Amino acid sequence: MLKTIEGFNRIGEENAFAVLARATALAAQGRDIINLGIGQPDFRTPEHVVEAAVKALQDGHHGYTPATGILPLREGVAADIDRRRGASVNPDNVVVVPGGKVTMFMAILMFGEPGAEILYPNPGFPIYRSMIEFTGATPVPVPIREENDFAFSAEETLSLLTPRTRLVILNSPANPTGGVTPRAEIEKLVAGLETRPDIAILSDEIYGQMTYDGAVHCSLLEFEAIRDRLILLDGWSKTYAMTGWRMGYAVWPDQLIDKARKLAVNCWSCVNAPAQFAGLAALEGPQDAVAAMMVEFDKRRKLVVEGLNALPGVSARTPMGAFYAFPNISGTGWKAKPLASALLEEAGVAVIGGPDFGILGEGYIRLSYANSADNIALALQRMGEFLSQPRG
Ligand code: PLP
Repeated sequence: MLKTIEGFNRIGEENAFAVLARATALAAQGRDIINLGIGQPDFRTPEHVVEAAVKALQDGHHGYTPATGILPLREGVAADIDRRRGASVNPDNVVVVPGGKVTMFMAILMFGEPGAEILYPNPGFPIYRSMIEFTGATPVPVPIREENDFAFSAEETLSLLTPRTRLVILNSPANPTGGVTPRAEIEKLVAGLETRPDIAILSDEIYGQMTYDGAVHCSLLEFEAIRDRLILLDGWSKTYAMTGWRMGYAVWPDQLIDKARKLAVNCWSCVNAPAQFAGLAALEGPQDAVAAMMVEFDKRRKLVVEGLNALPGVSARTPMGAFYAFPNISGTGWKAKPLASALLEEAGVAVIGGPDFGILGEGYIRLSYANSADNIALALQRMGEFLSQPRG
């Protein structure tokens, strides 16, 4: 029997992939399944982005690149951040990574060890807690509350800091709730964190370009006072419908950049070269595909929220970001995970139970509206029929 490190007794997973596998298996058996489970845009990567990757291969870009990414791409990221967020970033602080997730892996590895405490949103992206547990650090959940429109609370976050806190993870716009934390709340949080230069901040802004109804995403990069300890996580997966390309980036502060570069050298050497050229084309090319995708998501968002609120025992806040709805299902009499499972097996609708995003997700399910309006309408109809059946 091989003895691996203790952390493997604690590492978790992302149940969305298990639901996807089950939905695919049921579909392969001939079942008609509507997938509202997986968090990836159902749009094609824009054509000019695909062409840039093809051209890069034809031009002979098939070797290693610098570990942190080709300079034009890191410059492109810095220019894009300047354009969109009005923040100035040195391309030398940018690390291009194989997917946004890699940055959370790196940041949590850098700060997680027994005795350390790491704050993370709950409900939130499951990998935060999984990786914190893997390192042996203590996960400290920051409750994300429906009554707060799923924004995080600065006061509550600050109240959870202790002398052992090493890292605070923030996520807005958020998965799984679609919550967007308003600027005033972020300002309050930053003011509190200013007094703790020993705490690193990981701001996961992968849905930063996906907001609705004029909600403005406030980036932590805008706050100079914390830039020396801020790690920004972003990437191409969601904004440009590029989940399978594995393209993300991070902005690291001066005091951590060399450690981040060393992790890159030790782990993946560099990101796939043609994908990096595609990433550059995405940032520098026309943005109309992004705008068109958001118009479509917005229509579906309205459809989903209206449909959910018409279901017996279900109530849904209007999400202001990302492409998820996180309805409260406590009025149905079901626990969230059995309901998600029954909806898949009996009604042919794949959704994710709230507890897959943390214990505070009980009473909720997550629907991703990355599916056609017709499929969403049909899924809601099936959910309505299912919930209206008498339970034996
Ligand atoms: N951060 C959040 C909040 C996410 O929801 C996701 C993907 O679902 C990621 C990061 C990771 O994105 P990527 O596919 O680029 O690794």
